[in-house]
Amino acid sequence: MVVEASPPSVFSPWPDRLRHAAIILLVAGLALVALVLFGELSAQRAVIAFVCITGAALVPWRVHDKTTSREEVLSVNPVEAPAVRAIVAGMPDPAVLLDRAGRVLHFNSAAGQLAPALRRNELAQFALRSPEIVTALREAIATTEPRRATYLDHVPVDRWMELLITPVPVPTHFGGTDTCMLMTFHDQTPLRRVEEMRADFVANASHELRTPLAALSGFIETLQGPAKDDAKARERFLGIMHTQAKRMARLIDDLLSLSRVELTAHVRPDMLVDILPIIRQVGDGLEPLAAERQVRIEMELPDAPVMIAGDREELLRLFENLIENALKYGASGGRVQVSLAASNNLEGAPEIRVAVRDFGPGIAPEHLPRLTERFYRVDVGDSRAQGGTGLGLSLVKHILNRHRGRLLIESVPKNGATFTAAFPQLKAPQA
Ligand code: ADP
Repeated sequence: MVVEASPPSVFSPWPDRLRHAAIILLVAGLALVALVLFGELSAQRAVIAFVCITGAALVPWRVHDKTTSREEVLSVNPVEAPAVRAIVAGMPDPAVLLDRAGRVLHFNSAAGQLAPALRRNELAQFALRSPEIVTALREAIATTEPRRATYLDHVPVDRWMELLITPVPVPTHFGGTDTCMLMTFHDQTPLRRVEEMRADFVANASHELRTPLAALSGFIETLQGPAKDDAKARERFLGIMHTQAKRMARLIDDLLSLSRVELTAHVRPDMLVDILPIIRQVGDGLEPLAAERQVRIEMELPDAPVMIAGDREELLRLFENLIENALKYGASGGRVQVSLAASNNLEGAPEIRVAVRDFGPGIAPEHLPRLTERFYRVDVGDSRAQGGTGLGLSLVKHILNRHRGRLLIESVPKNGATFTAAFPQLKAPQA
């Protein structure tokens, strides 16, 4: 396409407004001269009129000169000041500052990562296409009131984002204020996950409690009705009811222990305890279960005390869970080994490791990462039949976290499993 250049005029190098003023003055001057020549106006009045017209034509030009084009406004507007840009850039969350029309004035690098299509001086809604954002932005601009929106961002991964639009009055050059819109984005995904976990936990706990409760109610009704005078059935049903009641009690016990450990998770135990008598006490207490399952418990422990900073009750609970699991799920192996060794963690810090090894069926690798989740079981039926609650290993993990230790799980299917509780070793006293 060929664009013809307009012919140069006398006024062409002048700014627009000045050119208009000059034309007005020329026309007015000619008209006044004509009036004077035809005797309609005295020369003196004509001069006064010309001065007035000159003033009227030139003063607005001075005022307009300050606000001519948008680019010129931007270069003088305080909204464009480096301080404003630095504040937006320094905000930790993604932040975008818009003018009242929704055009991007500034955005920080976090916002650039969130919406790579953002460009200065362009409408934000071109880059932020989520309908929730566009609606909130439109409403905020129309009402100049804050708006909040939550939406699911799919790129690069699913994230729950919260958007806040806050109107910010910014002083202009002429003593007024210009309302800009500050958009900030907050990643709500971690909070959502916690909320989902909490809801799952409540649902699981209620389900676990409801099952034995339903069994108890069923048997009570049977005993009050059809089996009222059946002594044999009564005996059998009371036995089952006893087992179910114990299961509920164990579940409540585990739930309470878990919440107690969680409450104190940030406080590391500071009592010095010898870990060996604790392990032996647990082993002795579980002898009846071992005898019942025909499993031999082999203790391979040193003679000298092994001191760690720990909570005795929690350590009893921890070893009880690990050894009881080995006896229950690894019974087919016929023996359970409990051993203690000194080792180093990944950073090279010394630690005490207590390993509980069984020789049972082991655990398939896909289950290993999930074993410490609450209510996770490899085989729900098997766990229930063994009186399990699905909370034991979760409790073990929390107790170890509180002790600043860690749980290591190794298993070879068909060749048993080893659960190792690792505790930081006490520093040797300074000489
Ligand atoms: P539960 O109360 O069911 O025993 P835990 O949290 O202690 O709950 O254990 C979770 C699951 O891990 C168990 O249901 C079982 O499937 C599996 N598990 C734990 N210890 C062993 C083990 N030594 N051998 C095989 N499977 C095990």
